[in-house]
Amino acid sequence: MKKYEAIIGLEVHAQMLTDTKIFCGCSTKFGSEPNTQTCPVCTGMPGVLPVLNRKALEFAIRTGLAMNCKIAPYSRFARKNYFYPDLPKGYQISQYELPICEHGYIEIVVDGEKKRIGITRIHMEEDAGKNIHEGDHSLVDLNRTGVPLMEIVSEPDIRSPKEAVEYMKKLRTILRYIGVCDGNMEQGSLRCDANVSVRPVGQEEFGTKVEVKNINSFKFVERALDYEIKRQIKVLEEGGTLVQETRLWDSGAGVTLSMRTKEEAHDYRYFPEPDLVPVTVDEKWTEDIRATLPELPDAKRERFISEYGLPEYDADLLTSERALADWYEEAVKSGGQPKAVSNWMMGELMRLLNEANASIEDCPVKPAQLAGMLKLIDKGTISGKIAKTVFEEMYKTGKDAETIVNEKGLVQITDENAILKTVDEVLASNPKEVERYKNGEEKLIGFFVGQVMKLTKGKANPKAVNELLRKRLKEQ
Ligand code: ADP
Ligand code: ZN
Ligand code: MG
Repeated sequence: MKKYEAIIGLEVHAQMLTDTKIFCGCSTKFGSEPNTQTCPVCTGMPGVLPVLNRKALEFAIRTGLAMNCKIAPYSRFARKNYFYPDLPKGYQISQYELPICEHGYIEIVVDGEKKRIGITRIHMEEDAGKNIHEGDHSLVDLNRTGVPLMEIVSEPDIRSPKEAVEYMKKLRTILRYIGVCDGNMEQGSLRCDANVSVRPVGQEEFGTKVEVKNINSFKFVERALDYEIKRQIKVLEEGGTLVQETRLWDSGAGVTLSMRTKEEAHDYRYFPEPDLVPVTVDEKWTEDIRATLPELPDAKRERFISEYGLPEYDADLLTSERALADWYEEAVKSGGQPKAVSNWMMGELMRLLNEANASIEDCPVKPAQLAGMLKLIDKGTISGKIAKTVFEEMYKTGKDAETIVNEKGLVQITDENAILKTVDEVLASNPKEVERYKNGEEKLIGFFVGQVMKLTKGKANPKAVNELLRKRLKEQ
């Protein structure tokens, strides 16, 4: 029996996929020359005025709706004051006491069980710039300053590092489905701060929480939380007490390090942003946005199970990306048997995509082409084994299965006489094995089948080979 239980709540920052920044018209493109995407507004020049990007507001509402939130008819921006070189105004414009979305939830599946994780709030804010440290000096790049972010705050409903990872993954999937964030953790478009505490099992109140910053991959969500939970339990078991603090995940060393305690916490002196009017959203606009939401991952997953009879595992994987699910459905619509399409996608297709580090959008094989290849297997034109070679060739060349089969002469040999000829050849050149087989070593049949397949370059129908071999061996 475990003595302690972990309580986790995540604060996730998601960069919105708008073309321009949240309060000015500068581009949000990633990877440009430093400071080429700036203007007087996002560099904080005196006298300029911010104007809210309508698209950013729409994306925040879209996200709130997809996560079952209430959309606030009236919300407001505030100034969060602090000093740092990457923050030219000396304050960040963020929503504080009146966020755009509240009281939502998303569902995760852990060990086969569905679980609801509450979303406390989603608010809009602007990103800061980036400090680059080189030798004895530092440089500041303000291209990212003013890029629109959403902060998605969860309730403390998460109970293990594994649940935290599932929650992050589901969040990312939804954000990508609805097209508001690319979810790229390496480039920082999805970042996570994790709040964690432990309490003795059975205790009602929460323990003292620690916020762990700087977690930038799913793997690190799990590792950082694992480490932090163990650390906290150890402190308690040794009779110590925990302090409320912010810690930094050091991925190189695999540890969390204290950054600042509650006493050293910033006082951000929040106050309402006087340069922006409050945000009002009417019911009609909210409903218009709701009408443009695509089928969401959970609904799609359920439908894949009921409509195509897929196992949960397949449905999970195929609906993890919208483009993958679309590809699947197109292949089935083109005549592919649902489970066969799933098997080929999860097996060969994923393998080839992974090897090429490509995504389904760049897949050289079209869904109808996979369906076409499956038809050739069904008709017995090619064997399942040859199909693997054919599929690799399809991936390499983009050609149809039929074309490849004809060009390479890969049509399965079902003609009995042709197979018999090879069978006899094999038996004649392996007299010792034939003798052993006749003396009871029946498992040698596998060896003979292998030899025939080798000589026919895998083209002989395996079932026919098996039958003919047994027949001939009996006659010997
Ligand atoms: P703060 O006042 O420090 O911002 P909040 O109450 O706003 O704290 O919560 C911030 C995040 O921390 C939320 O995701 C919330 O779910 C989580 N959280 C709050 N209390 C705890 C706790 N005792 N243990 C773990 N997570 C917590
Ligand atoms: Zn600008
Ligand atoms: Mg808070």
